[in-house]
Amino acid sequence: MTSANPRFDFSIHATDDKARTGTIRMKRGEIRTPAFMPVGTAATVKAMRPAEVRAAGADIILGNTYHLMLRPGAERMARLGGLHNFMKWDRPILTDSGGYQVMSLSELTKLTEEGVAFASHLDGSKHMLSPERSMEIQRLLGSDIVMAFDECTKNGVSRDEAAKSMERSMRWAKRSRDGFDSGHEHASRAALFGIQQGSLDEGLRKASAEALVEIGFDGYAVGGLAVGEGQEAMFATLDFAPGQLPADKPRYLMGVGKPDDIVGAVERGIDMFDCVLPTRSGRNGQAFTWNGPVNIRNAKHAEDQSPLDAQCSCPVCATWSRAYLHHLIRSGEILGAMLMTEHNIHFYQQLMAGLRAAIAEGRLAAFAADFRARYYARD
Ligand SMILES: [Zn+2]
Repeated sequence: MTSANPRFDFSIHATDDKARTGTIRMKRGEIRTPAFMPVGTAATVKAMRPAEVRAAGADIILGNTYHLMLRPGAERMARLGGLHNFMKWDRPILTDSGGYQVMSLSELTKLTEEGVAFASHLDGSKHMLSPERSMEIQRLLGSDIVMAFDECTKNGVSRDEAAKSMERSMRWAKRSRDGFDSGHEHASRAALFGIQQGSLDEGLRKASAEALVEIGFDGYAVGGLAVGEGQEAMFATLDFAPGQLPADKPRYLMGVGKPDDIVGAVERGIDMFDCVLPTRSGRNGQAFTWNGPVNIRNAKHAEDQSPLDAQCSCPVCATWSRAYLHHLIRSGEILGAMLMTEHNIHFYQQLMAGLRAAIAEGRLAAFAADFRARYYARD
């Protein structure tokens, strides 16, 4: 990392059909794409030290505005030197806008043109999130990639409701842009992404993309997917949505996903992902492997001396058996959560590295076919 690093620069090194591989260069370091961002909800990727997250191959992590504004609080975080200094992760951090979690986790949510009024799920205290306040909080946290404040349109709403929701999100996108730009010092070293909405509707998605491009952003997220529509509908939307966004900017699919979701989305032109699955599932005893998900709680692993994944290069697979992990998870031991998480984070990063190499060498279709054949095979 040198002082010569740009604020934000995205270069595409190779394409393979709709897929791309490249590098985002930022002040705090480079992000190789397609990239998977481990989720550090409460200023920690749960059960992992920052050095272990980095050792797994992660170039960037995600922080949650909603959780951090409630605890420890954005102003307190700023007094403590910002999120990077607080948790000791010195590479890029993307923060979400808080909008999605405010509407899914908090109580007494009141949505108006101004923003969202809500009560904390922790202590019932009253708060307000608006585009301006979301930009201010993400600035106080010291975010590198700031997400515009939007409404994640619920799955299954009418086209009329989806249109009204998308149009409000586009007005909020403009207010987010203005709010971000008003933080001059932070705006000179951070980036701002807009978020496309429009549910599963091609016309609404197109209108949303055009509104965002008119405002202008460093990158563009496809929002409002992975909200219960299922993989088939998500892929059908990804058949057109990424192509509506600028080809020379990163495209980020928010909240996705399972390994097979990621492979299919990369094939459709997505560059960035985040998801709680590798961490949350790991703590619950689910490992992701090249041969599909493994439930380590299952009795068949009780005397299995093989590793979680014979092909995995992580420290867990190099050292401990399925039998030991089975014992730890069944016993509720903290180390079980730590080791399962470490493997899963490594697995996701190995998957991304495999995808990047396949795109660079023009063999993504074969890589994806081989991945699916093994991942969906059940023994
Ligand atoms: Zn492993």
